[in-house]
Amino acid sequence: MAIKENINKINIEITNAELRFDRKQGIVKLLAVSKTKPIELLKEAYECGQRIFGENKVQEAELKFPQMPSDTEFHMIGHLQSNKVSKACKVFTCIQSVDSLKIAKKINNCCKELGKTMFIYLDINISTDENKTGFENNNDFLNIFEEILSLSNIEVKGLMCIGAYTDNVEVIKKSFTDLRELLDLLHLKFPSFKEKELSMGMSSDYIEAIEMGSTMVRVGSSIFGHRN
Ligand SMILES: *Cc1c(COP(=O)(O)O)cnc(C)c1O
Repeated sequence: MAIKENINKINIEITNAELRFDRKQGIVKLLAVSKTKPIELLKEAYECGQRIFGENKVQEAELKFPQMPSDTEFHMIGHLQSNKVSKACKVFTCIQSVDSLKIAKKINNCCKELGKTMFIYLDINISTDENKTGFENNNDFLNIFEEILSLSNIEVKGLMCIGAYTDNVEVIKKSFTDLRELLDLLHLKFPSFKEKELSMGMSSDYIEAIEMGSTMVRVGSSIFGHRN
C-alpha cells in the first residue's frame, strides 16, 4: 500500500481545493482514519508527516496510541458508549462523536477527575438519517448546546457530520452547507464561541466538503486502502 503517495496526493488535492474554492490557505486539516489498520501503517503515515489520527473503537485505540510518538493527536470518531467514556477520556486527545448531553456530562465528570480538559466536537445528524447517531438540528439543540458550552472540563472545538449517504452530489453538498449554517448560527448566538471547526468530508466527498467550508477532513480508505 503506497501510503506516502496517497497522503501526498490528498494533501495536494486539499491545497488545490482551498485555492479553487477561495478558502484560506492551510485551513483544512487532514485526519487519517486508521480504524482496523495495523500500527505499522499508522507509523508509516506518521513518517510522512501525518499527525492526526482517528479511531472508532476505544479498545483498539488503547492498544495503538501508546505505540505512537507523543506529538500524535488521537480523535475518537465513532459513537461512544456510556461505559467506555472513562477509558476514552484517558486515551483520546479529542472526542468528535459527542452525540448526547448525557455523554458530554459524563466526559466532563471523567475529565474533572483526571484534571484535564477534553476537546470535543458535537456530532450532528444533519441529513436526519435514521441509521445515524448525532444530535437532531432543531430548537432543542440550542438549549442543549448552551448547557454543553457551560461544562468546565470540556472545550467545544466545533461540529462534525457525515455527509448524506447518496450518489447525488447536490444532496451531499446540502448536508455540508446545513452544518456550516448551523455553525454560523452558533457563532452568532454565543459570542464566546468563535472561529470553530467543521469536521466534514470523507474519502468519497472531501473535496465537496472543502467547497462547503470544512476545516477538517476525515480520510480513511484513500490513505490506507479498503477495510475488510
Ligand atoms: C470510517 C469513517 C471515516 C473515513 O471513511 P473513508 O470512507 O474510509 O474515508 C470518516 N468518518 C467517520 C465518522 C468514519 O466512521
